[in-house]
Amino acid sequence: MKWFVLVCILSVNFAKHEHYIGWKSYYIAVSTGDQSKALVPMVQKYELDFLSHPSKGREGVVLVKPQYQAAFVKELEAEGIVYRIHVDDVKKKLDYDDQLIEVKKKSTMSRKRSRKLPFDNYQDIQVIDNYLDNIAKKYPKVAKVVTGGTTFKDLPIKYIKISTTNFEDETKPVIVIDGTIHAREWITPPTVTWAIHKLVENVTEPDLLKRFDWILVPVVNPDGYKYSYHIERFWRKTRSYDKNPVSFVCRGVDANRNFDIKFNTDRYHSDYCRETFQGTHAFSEPESRVIRDILQQNLGRIALYISLHSYGSMIMYPWGHDGSLSHNTPALQAVGSAMASAIQNKALPDFPRYQTGNTGQLVYLSTGTSTDYAHSIGVPLAYGFELPGLADGNAGFNLEPKYIKQVCQETWAGFVVGARLAGDLFKIKI
Ligand SMILES: [Zn+2]
Repeated sequence: MKWFVLVCILSVNFAKHEHYIGWKSYYIAVSTGDQSKALVPMVQKYELDFLSHPSKGREGVVLVKPQYQAAFVKELEAEGIVYRIHVDDVKKKLDYDDQLIEVKKKSTMSRKRSRKLPFDNYQDIQVIDNYLDNIAKKYPKVAKVVTGGTTFKDLPIKYIKISTTNFEDETKPVIVIDGTIHAREWITPPTVTWAIHKLVENVTEPDLLKRFDWILVPVVNPDGYKYSYHIERFWRKTRSYDKNPVSFVCRGVDANRNFDIKFNTDRYHSDYCRETFQGTHAFSEPESRVIRDILQQNLGRIALYISLHSYGSMIMYPWGHDGSLSHNTPALQAVGSAMASAIQNKALPDFPRYQTGNTGQLVYLSTGTSTDYAHSIGVPLAYGFELPGLADGNAGFNLEPKYIKQVCQETWAGFVVGARLAGDLFKIKI
């Protein structure tokens, strides 16, 4: 019987990533505008999935299904686009990532039982939700958990409000940080929970709690995160479907194309089967509605909004939908650069250097994003962060668990500088 159970466990593990058998990933470097343009139709033709977008002087990483690899490479060569293999056997690398996570889990379990959230591993959604509940229980005077909505699969979308004045002092600026609107970006939830840890459990910057009220959402997209964590590693979207039979086969919406800002102006995002499917209408998803509601409920008080993504080591600001510059660009660039420098001062040398700039100009155009939406309704400083990804070419798709705490700490240094500067600018405004 024991053997039977063991064989079953091993088969399940083996089967876990079989969807990715034969897939490869490639580093891509573009050096001219024409080369960037040439990549656009290839995305549709070869069903490319960019895990990290190439920017000037920075390689990107793209996943390619087996049936398209030969033609894709041929076209890259014809366009003179430089490429090299990133991972030759994607399934094997995912199995490797799983092993690292399992080893860490065992070592965490063998340590003394603790109610603290370990920052040395990627956590299940339930563990993250429990952490928020425990914080609210332990620090009821400053922390409160809110269930902002319920997902298609009936999971709560939880976030935490941190305030020394119960959000009642209307002169205090609000800072909003969210993560995991894209399911597969696993480094983002620990980065948000670390911020909670630093504001409540291990306070080294008390002014941040005195001066500001905070809203922190570790996992905007719990359905997608759970699915990515347990079933399909590169799942990005939500898990919803509607009456259209295509949506049943190609499930989910890219919640970060679902905000009401230039929605449906790019038909490229209107195909259910696309990774960036925008949804049938703006705010069709509870995930985007939760962020909309947070922004709307606190409008006029939000000094800084940061939405965390991965990966690419970038700090990006509006407008992402057309690459034009907003009226507040000088402040966006100045605060963005200051955050990038603060992160860089703490970064490991083998992580790429942070770049700061307009989203459209730095990487690519994207309609219906949360940062563009926040800025359009009046949030003066709105950013999308691409957290660091691969530390070196031999790593798997996850940043190895040993780097999680490092990313948390260095990104927190950016939040500290960003919050203080945003607070100063906000004071000038009022
Ligand atoms: Zn993302």
